[in-house]
Amino acid sequence: MPYKESDNRAPRDATMRAIAEEVEIARLKFPTGKHLLAALGEEFGEVCRALLEFHYEGGPRENVIAEAVQVAAMAIRIIEEGVMEYPGNEAQCGNEL
Ligand SMILES: [Mg+2]
Repeated sequence: MPYKESDNRAPRDATMRAIAEEVEIARLKFPTGKHLLAALGEEFGEVCRALLEFHYEGGPRENVIAEAVQVAAMAIRIIEEGVMEYPGNEAQCGNEL
């Protein structure tokens, strides 16, 4: 589907930049890409916690956004790098897009 900045259904450029920066940070910190599925699960748990803290304890919305960006970054790594612990899925999945 074509992407247009003017299309308000499309992700905002600032959102995509934040996710791209997070992917880069994650690749520098964990370059091997081991345990990406577990990392995605961990980040999902963290966004859930941030949402609960936001809703019940007045926690900062910035934490929700930061954790959601990390979820998206892990998903992108899985799209592009695969999940090496699952045989046959360690290829560069992103090349198939
Ligand atoms: Mg996190």
